[in-house]
Amino acid sequence: MLNSSLGSSVSRRRFLRWSQAAMAAVGAAPLFGRSAEAAAPASSIAPVDYYEKLNVRKLINARGTFTGLTAAVMPLQVQRAVAEAALHPVHLEELQTNAGAYIAKKLRCEGAMVTCGASAALSLATAACIQSANNCLPMDIPQEIGTAKFPKNEVIVQKSHRYEYDHAMFLCGIKIVEVTTLEDYKRAFTPNTVMTNFFNSTRSGQIDQPQWLEIAHQHNVPCHLDAAADMPPIENLWKYTGMGFDLVAFSGGKGIRGPQNAGLLLGKKSLIDLAAQNNNPHMGVGRGMKVAKEQIVGMVAAVDWILEQTDEGMEHEYLRRANVVLHALKDIPTIQSTFFTEPIANHVPILMLTYDPAVVGIKPEDVLTRLRALNPSIELASGQGNTIGVSTWMLQPGEELIVARELYKVLKSAKA
Ligand SMILES: *Cc1c(COP(=O)(O)O)cnc(C)c1O
Repeated sequence: MLNSSLGSSVSRRRFLRWSQAAMAAVGAAPLFGRSAEAAAPASSIAPVDYYEKLNVRKLINARGTFTGLTAAVMPLQVQRAVAEAALHPVHLEELQTNAGAYIAKKLRCEGAMVTCGASAALSLATAACIQSANNCLPMDIPQEIGTAKFPKNEVIVQKSHRYEYDHAMFLCGIKIVEVTTLEDYKRAFTPNTVMTNFFNSTRSGQIDQPQWLEIAHQHNVPCHLDAAADMPPIENLWKYTGMGFDLVAFSGGKGIRGPQNAGLLLGKKSLIDLAAQNNNPHMGVGRGMKVAKEQIVGMVAAVDWILEQTDEGMEHEYLRRANVVLHALKDIPTIQSTFFTEPIANHVPILMLTYDPAVVGIKPEDVLTRLRALNPSIELASGQGNTIGVSTWMLQPGEELIVARELYKVLKSAKA
């Protein structure tokens, strides 16, 4: 291993000899003195707006936690934790281990790990289940999986739960066994089954969660649940592990409002420990899914932040912002409003504004285009038929006023 040779006494002695020679050559003071940059107080470094420098438009997010919109903005206390973490190097594995233990305690599960997103959590969960079933090493995944040496490679999934994120499992060398009925499911377990995956927010599928868990556990097969976008309510952070799911993935950068490239894998300690063996800094499928100290600390701070909130308090604020928008539009002819809330994922109220485009003079899809073209760009939740959707949960303080003003301008001036 690279690390052990670096730590050997030979190379250490060589380093000491080199550094003594270097000090003699240049004098100790410059080598160990502070550089001009290090000596400057942080307050003397002017902030640079790199979005401006890069000619990138900022946006006002009235749409939701979409990856392409950079998902959530971290609350100030999380931003602060990230900035503090950036000041010091640490042992990455020690940070991961201690962060995991801290989060597990806070979220009432046996084990936890910070990943670089829910998709990475699913990959690492798959790797853990493969290792558990085959008794193989991280370095055997994926190329030895499904061979005579390590034949166990089947993941059972309901047909209606197949999704784009299946790729996160495929990269570990598995194949998916699809089931539709409960009878299919019971018959699907073979000696090669390594895990099951349940896509939480889909409401399709004949097999419900208790049945799903019961049958898998009769076969000693661990169950992973993808709950990436399924917070709020806050209690979901412990509900699914509490129900018996062995592993549960959450996105860190969506409702929890951690760094966009962070996520959580929660669940059974033994499986989390295996997942950690596959995660960076170790070699394996997780090596390319690097989680930096800033992300790990940011994720912990986001967990702290979300546990300080209440569902009622957050919803009250989302509705207050929606009402600011609604109030500004009250004299737009024919306008009507309702709220729409997704049942599981992104479970927050979205303001739905309906009006007669023939009377107002502009179609909702054109309103969307007009607001997107502004600088800062405004992204609305939807605009189809005669309805505009405004999602207020990702707005920054005060932005509801800008959304209200710009929507009013576009709707009011359309006929003129
Ligand atoms: C967003 C999402 C993911 C991926 O989450 P990341 O944190 O962006 O990796 C996975 N599964 C579902 C259902 C999602 O909604």
